[in-house]
Amino acid sequence: KFTDPLQIDRKDEIGQLAQSFQLMTERLGENDRIRKEFINNVSHDFQTPLLNIKGYANLIENDPPAVERKNYAKVIQAETERLSALTKQLMLLTSLDQLLSPLQLKTFRLDEQLKETIRRYRWALEEKEMSLSLELDEIELQGDPAFLEKVWANLLSNAIKYTETGGSIEITLTEQDNTVIATFCDTGIGIPEEKIGRIFERFYRVDDSRTKEIGGSGLGLAIVRQVVELHGGNITAKRNGQQGMTFIISLPKL
Ligand code: ADP
Repeated sequence: KFTDPLQIDRKDEIGQLAQSFQLMTERLGENDRIRKEFINNVSHDFQTPLLNIKGYANLIENDPPAVERKNYAKVIQAETERLSALTKQLMLLTSLDQLLSPLQLKTFRLDEQLKETIRRYRWALEEKEMSLSLELDEIELQGDPAFLEKVWANLLSNAIKYTETGGSIEITLTEQDNTVIATFCDTGIGIPEEKIGRIFERFYRVDDSRTKEIGGSGLGLAIVRQVVELHGGNITAKRNGQQGMTFIISLPKL
């Protein structure tokens, strides 16, 4: 009777070992690729503002008229702030990676925290004449308030950033079968279906002329996903029927 030698190989111990090595090599290669891409992205994101700072500092050195000097100084300030924000986000991601700051669990009212975050963005909402509708149940959760606050802030600031003036945002918070569900729905520019799968990757930004005009590092949603997953939850994104995006977060009540 004919037996396929490969089939036999796969079943014995050596075959299994060979398979695990193969898998490990593939995974290591993948990690290496992600690491290289990450370093490449970080370097690029630091390089651009640094070059701007250097260029404008050189211009100031040549004693330009006062008006120009002021404008140059403003660019330098803005670029410095960009670098500082980027550094903060990177430090946060690194601490999440290495669990340098393990979750500091507390039981707190999630709806109150969400309202507090929204309060901080009132000015941005008013500036863009956006309407906000809230449906927040009173929910108590055990989680890390400092990290979860970043989740709400990033999702809300994205909804504001990627929605045109006059648009609207809807936020809901409910509980079902011991799982907390938060949704952020906007009427913004949306994300093409084929790109949704990548938005939670570090540094990924939708390559679109409209997105390019809006500043960002591409780290916000990576932070959101990591914090949500550290809490044992998950996040998904989907396009709304007519316009905009909805982000859905579910968190188990530990
Ligand atoms: P960024 O700093 O670029 O906003 P994020 O990680 O927060 O980075 O988001 C990644 C990308 O996903 C953004 O660059 C943008 O293209 C897209 N995106 C995120 N949120 C929204 C949204 N609410 N509507 C449309 N596009 C969004």
